[in-house]
Parts: sequence; structure tokens; C-alpha cells
Amino acid sequence: MSCFYRVRCPSCGNEQIIYSHASTTVRCQICDEILAEPRGGRAKIKAQITYIYGKKTS
Ligand SMILES: [Zn+2]
Repeated sequence: MSCFYRVRCPSCGNEQIIYSHASTTVRCQICDEILAEPRGGRAKIKAQITYIYGKKTS
């Protein structure tokens, strides 16, 4: 299941939204730190996840 994560950059503390199944490397918009890497499905999240959007609780 796909969703969006709000993550905090471990390097500069910037928060941004990334897609759970990102197909390209996601970098911090501020300092260029790698936040997520594609893994042919669910992306490998390398930053701290602070919120998950669209997660079903049922
Ligand atoms: Zn950063």
C-alpha cells in the first residue's frame, strides 16, 4: 500500500513530504542529504518519519 511520509532530515532538520514508493532518490531540498532510495517497490527511508499520511487504521 502506498502512502506519503513527512520526514525530518537528519542533517539539517528540514521537514518535507515524500512518497512511500518513490522511484528516484529523494534528497533534502535544503542540504541535499539523501532521504529515501528506490528499492523497486517501497522506498528505503533514511530519514526520521514524523507523520504518515493516508494510513488506514482498519
Ligand atoms: Zn537537510
